[in-house]
Amino acid sequence: MTILQQSTSATSRINSHGKSQLRAGEVALVGSGPGDAELLTIRAMRFIKQAEIAIYDRLVSDEILALLPENCERFYVGKEQAKHCVPQDKINQILVEQAKLGKKVLRLKGGDPFIFGRGGEEAEFMLQQGVSCHICPGVTAASGCTTYAGIPLTHRGVAQGCTFITGHMQNNGQLNLPWKSLICPTQTVVFYMGINTLPKIAEQLVKHGRDINTPAALIRKGTQPEQRTYRGTIGNLAELVEKHNITPPTLIVIGDVVNQLTTKQLTTPGFLDAKNYIEKEVIAEVIEKIA
Ligand code: SAH
Repeated sequence: MTILQQSTSATSRINSHGKSQLRAGEVALVGSGPGDAELLTIRAMRFIKQAEIAIYDRLVSDEILALLPENCERFYVGKEQAKHCVPQDKINQILVEQAKLGKKVLRLKGGDPFIFGRGGEEAEFMLQQGVSCHICPGVTAASGCTTYAGIPLTHRGVAQGCTFITGHMQNNGQLNLPWKSLICPTQTVVFYMGINTLPKIAEQLVKHGRDINTPAALIRKGTQPEQRTYRGTIGNLAELVEKHNITPPTLIVIGDVVNQLTTKQLTTPGFLDAKNYIEKEVIAEVIEKIA
């Protein structure tokens, strides 16, 4: 085969798959983002519209489920921390079975399938079983939720980098994280699945050297109409959880960027209202008074 022929066949492959055409017997592993349907990619939307069966998790919002075709079968395999409604092995099997029945299968996952989503495991299993799979990214919670809460993950002179990390306990009940790599003052750290281990997270960060007064935020149900953001510091996050009875899905954000945009708490997620602008110094005074 000549180079030209090779590149032509590669292009034709890209054209059929690149246009997000879901064929019978294939699976589309699609990230649905953190909830707001407006954050779906066009590619995700194309797969959603072709689905004959949708296999989806707890984090996929109702607004997004409403976009499924009317005659699309729905299969809920919702997961909650530490109690999987349907175990992962079973989910893998269902995907393969449905594809082998010749259906156009949509595997819809919250956020991005490859970020704390076990998308890699599912794709691997499907490939082992001879099922081809389209992979489509989604806006991950760390990006969607912080943006809708008015928190830039990096900011020149404030945060040079950002780490996404899981706060989910290992099966042995331990939370063994590389704590020393999470204490740099110019690094934003975002914990997924950390609400139940928050006291431990705060304790370990401080123990390893992160300032207890580092700004921190909890964002619950980010990008959705019920989004709530609670701002504080590493030192009082656990209290906030108790006081407001904050439950999953909640993201923990640590770093000076939390207070970077000097805006009032947004009433509309994802909208910075110039009318509500407050000078940074005033915010500092209010925080001081509260503390
Ligand atoms: N694959 C997903 C993450 C799944 S892990 C993604 O890329 O976003 C589940 C955790 O993600 C939750 O416990 C919570 O910490 C976070 N999360 C997901 N969606 C969220 C949302 N809308 N609001 C706040 N946190 C969310």
